[in-house]
Amino acid sequence: MTKYKYPLTILIDVLEDELCMVCGLPQDLCVCEEIAKEEQIIRVFLEKRRYGKSYTLVTGIDPNEVDLGGLAKKLKSKLACGGTQKEGRIELQGDHRYKIKQILEDFGFPGTNIEVQL
Ligand SMILES: [Zn+2]
Repeated sequence: MTKYKYPLTILIDVLEDELCMVCGLPQDLCVCEEIAKEEQIIRVFLEKRRYGKSYTLVTGIDPNEVDLGGLAKKLKSKLACGGTQKEGRIELQGDHRYKIKQILEDFGFPGTNIEVQL
C-alpha cells in the first residue's frame, strides 16, 4: 500500500504539471534533473553535410532524464544558431565545438563527462 501525503483527488489534479514523476516532489523542489545531468556522458562532434553545411551534434543525453527540448532551446539562444532535437540528440547549425563545453557546464553538466571531438 502506498501512502499519500495528500488526498488522492488533489494529487491527481496536480500530478501532471506540478509533481515530479520520479521523486514525487513539487517541480520547484525536485532535483532529479540536476542529478541526472551529472550522470550524462555527452559526446559532441561535427557532421559535415551536403552543400558544405556543418552541424554540431550533441549526443548521449538521455531524453527521459533531461528535458532535451528545453536544452536545445537554451543552446540555440546561447549560440545564436538554428537547430533541432530528435531521437535523443541535439543538432545545431554551424561549428560550435569550441564554445559548447563551457555552455553545457554552465547548464550543470560536469565537464569531465563531456567529450568534444575536435
Ligand atoms: Zn524529481
